[in-house]
Amino acid sequence: MSAFLEERVLSVHHWTDRLFSFTTTRDPALRFSNGHFTMIGLRINNKPLLRAYSIASANYEESLEFLSIKVEDGPLTSRLQHIQVGDSIVVGRKPTGTLLIDYLLPGKRLYMFSSGTGLAPFMSVIRDPETYEKFEEVILVHGVREVAELAYHDYITQELPAHEFLGEMITRQLRYYPTVTREQYHHMGRITDLIENGKLFTDLGVPSLNREEDRIMICGSPGLLRDLKVMLEARGFNEGNTSKPGDFVVERAFVEQ
Ligand SMILES: Cc1cc2nc3c(=O)[nH]c(=O)nc-3n(C[C@H](O)[C@H](O)[C@H](O)COP(=O)(O)OP(=O)(O)OC[C@H]3O[C@@H](n4cnc5c(N)ncnc54)[C@H](O)[C@@H]3O)c2cc1C
Repeated sequence: MSAFLEERVLSVHHWTDRLFSFTTTRDPALRFSNGHFTMIGLRINNKPLLRAYSIASANYEESLEFLSIKVEDGPLTSRLQHIQVGDSIVVGRKPTGTLLIDYLLPGKRLYMFSSGTGLAPFMSVIRDPETYEKFEEVILVHGVREVAELAYHDYITQELPAHEFLGEMITRQLRYYPTVTREQYHHMGRITDLIENGKLFTDLGVPSLNREEDRIMICGSPGLLRDLKVMLEARGFNEGNTSKPGDFVVERAFVEQ
């Protein structure tokens, strides 16, 4: 059996000249947990060219969804950004990763801190009913440079609260905090600064981060991960992984070359 599935592109949406998302068919044999990533890509000269991608769709959905950067000279995304409905996408059969609520100890509040395409795994986690069963409050923080990069903003604020099955839980328990660094916006600043100066908590009307109540997932640039990890460890939080649940879990949104 091949390690890869061949799926077909069902839709493509370009958010900006640096960001797009797309959906594909899903082989029912592909199993994954919300928060997982897998290898995806294109067949180039009959050889698969693959990169790690978080799955943005929830694991009960019939199609798969991905949120992607466009890197001008990137081996994969310089091509992937041109995909059209009906094109073929290679999808790895073995999704994996650490951003699972199962790898967090019980807590009152779940924070998801993301930057850029680091939002992708959390689009899956916020559509999982178990997230709302396990945590009373679910706080999604998305940091970007420009307002247009707030992918899924309208979906999160308008469509999800009206969702047939999840709507009630979302309305009651999900808080969404988009923040922008290079344009005027109602929330501005880097995630690390908003935590250090306490603005995030004042705005949300919650206590500052504390290990007794809060559990955290992080997905963003290597710099954001490094800084947040230092801040959390200084507050006594322990990192969890696939074999030992903890107070926080992290995943890189990409690797710096
Ligand atoms: C666990 C994991 C999950 C990932 N999930 C996603 C995802 O859901 N969506 C996604 O677009 N990418 C994701 N990536 C990054 C992805 O694997 C590729 O790096 C990306 O698609 C670019 O591929 P490329 O071949 O065009 O360029 P590459 O040669 O892979 O990357 C070139 C350079 O572009 C920059 N870069 C790459 N990806 C990003 C990004 N997402 N945001 C900002 N800068 C970036 C980095 O500086 C990198 O060194 C993930 C990476 C990891 C390790």
